[in-house]
Amino acid sequence: MSKIRYRDTRPEIAFRKALHSAGLKYRVNYGKERIDIAFPNLKLAIFIDGCFWHGCPLHSHIPKSNKRYWVPKLKKNLQRAKAKDLRLKKDGWKILHVWEHQLTADKISSTLKHTLTFMTTSYP
Ligand SMILES: [Zn+2]
Repeated sequence: MSKIRYRDTRPEIAFRKALHSAGLKYRVNYGKERIDIAFPNLKLAIFIDGCFWHGCPLHSHIPKSNKRYWVPKLKKNLQRAKAKDLRLKKDGWKILHVWEHQLTADKISSTLKHTLTFMTTSYP
């Protein structure tokens, strides 16, 4: 039970609370693709990408020690994420990726607005 979970990160929880108080119904870790935040009836998938795990251009840096381990590991991680996107797109999902670092308190509302805009523009 001591498995590290990097999914329920603080920024993600704050974001989910914001969605919730905006009256939006979502599912967490949804479906076999384990969508971070899913709106199944709209087929909108939101992924909160960890800066480290997904190679954020601003914050990701590969640990100097053990580069041989991390380079292929992170590369694989990205490939998996891309493949997942493709499968979901094929299934008719709209996909929104949000960097973990974008979910600071002051940015959550703008991200939320963006999500709402995205939803209304996709489904008038
Ligand atoms: Zn970042």
